[in-house]
Amino acid sequence: MAWDFETESEFQAKLDWADTFVREEVEPLDLLWHGLQFTPPDAEKRKIIDPLKDEVRRRRLWAAHLGPELGGEGYGQLKLALLNEILGRSEWAPIIFGCQAPDTGNAEIIAHYGTDEQKERYLRPLLDGEIFSCYSMTEPQAGSDPALFETRAEPDGEGWVINGWKFFSSNARTASFFIVMAVTDPDAGPYEGMSMFLVPADTPGIRIERNVGLGDEPAGDGAHALIHYDNVRVGPDAVLGGPGQAFAIAQTRLGGGRVHHAMRTIGLARKALDMMCERALSRRTRDGVLADKQFVQGYIADSYAQLTQFRLFVLYVAWSIDKHNDYRKVRKDIAAVKIVMPQVLHDIAQRAAQVHGALGMSNEMPFQRMLLGAGVMGMADGPTEVHKVTVARQVLRGHQPTDGLWPTGHLPSRTEAARAKYAAHLDREVGNL
Ligand SMILES: Cc1cc2nc3c(=O)[nH]c(=O)nc-3n(C[C@H](O)[C@H](O)[C@H](O)COP(=O)(O)OP(=O)(O)OC[C@H]3O[C@@H](n4cnc5c(N)ncnc54)[C@H](O)[C@@H]3O)c2cc1C
Repeated sequence: MAWDFETESEFQAKLDWADTFVREEVEPLDLLWHGLQFTPPDAEKRKIIDPLKDEVRRRRLWAAHLGPELGGEGYGQLKLALLNEILGRSEWAPIIFGCQAPDTGNAEIIAHYGTDEQKERYLRPLLDGEIFSCYSMTEPQAGSDPALFETRAEPDGEGWVINGWKFFSSNARTASFFIVMAVTDPDAGPYEGMSMFLVPADTPGIRIERNVGLGDEPAGDGAHALIHYDNVRVGPDAVLGGPGQAFAIAQTRLGGGRVHHAMRTIGLARKALDMMCERALSRRTRDGVLADKQFVQGYIADSYAQLTQFRLFVLYVAWSIDKHNDYRKVRKDIAAVKIVMPQVLHDIAQRAAQVHGALGMSNEMPFQRMLLGAGVMGMADGPTEVHKVTVARQVLRGHQPTDGLWPTGHLPSRTEAARAKYAAHLDREVGNL
């Protein structure tokens, strides 16, 4: 009987430490430096950040998503999920624990497909938390559908020259290198005709046309770049994996990235639920507190049930990834988690905002930011609709059409079949009457 919902005590002690550490030491950074977690820290910030990172390393929780050969702990996805649901409370916590998106996904694919040289040049400083990276795949006219990508990389001497446009490349403005997906063999189609390139940020020809913000962030000051790759020349050593491997690499990367977002979303939704409960117990009405009202109790019960379902699903998916050690084998459930994630965060943040009244609508509480985050979760790494198609296709693979006129679940037909099966016995019963 292998089903077990308990965490071994040694790791639970680490989680308990992380929970207190994040609340007391890291969450204050969210208030001091909101939105600056991907800006290389100056000397003053480093005085605070570096000792916090050192403490995480001492506790053996640094870069928990990677194996020991890469400076991580090799805990696997399930333990990472338990840790990430704590880190999800805080925008700075993943940085302090060395496991922030999109760098985690980028590190994973370099670790998996990179040459020793590429690992030394890009992966090592990335894992040390010294630099940031950018994943540049989505195109303005194509979204994230590779079949419509137009960015081309053409042979140029021994290397390549890249031309095209990419949109919503997060953290391009502060990244030290970009991972660019480009068409290298248009005749081979999207699955075998594209390649990934590791491109240093200071390579001539990389033009950030605009930094796009989210929601009501000031125009031109966002973290998501529209980039023009204008005759960007790279050497043969810039190809990640091999020519034509981009699609397979992207699947590896996005599989992990999606489930890591889901792990952190548990933490954020739980934070909203905690705040909802505190407010419900504190806000007085003429005949008690909000928590006495059945509508509010309904908000709390629905939120708890939704969060618990979601959490167990995420933990199950993490466990499945550890078991199969192959994202492709867990594709259906990763896509299903991606579908559920924005809805859970949206519903809980919305109820929490409602229970807080005007304050809940204001910029003095974090709920509107969480609601924007829920929208982002339904878009980044592919829109929900596309993941629904993936899930439906995979589910349908396990089913067959029927040849007959009536569905196999048709009750009169089934009853007739049941009578035929037990005819001898039924005849005897009738005979006994
Ligand atoms: C905060 C944030 C960060 C991001 N970071 C990165 C990054 O670092 N690197 C990167 O490369 N990209 C990044 N993206 C881009 C992201 O991958 C795309 O936004 C996403 O894939 C959708 O593409 P699109 O925005 O062009 O929307 P579109 O493709 O235009 O889709 C718009 C809508 O059309 C519908 N739709 C689209 N396709 C289908 C379909 N097949 N079936 C049914 N309905 C469909 C859906 O309702 C969808 O929401 C980021 C996005 C966000 C919001």
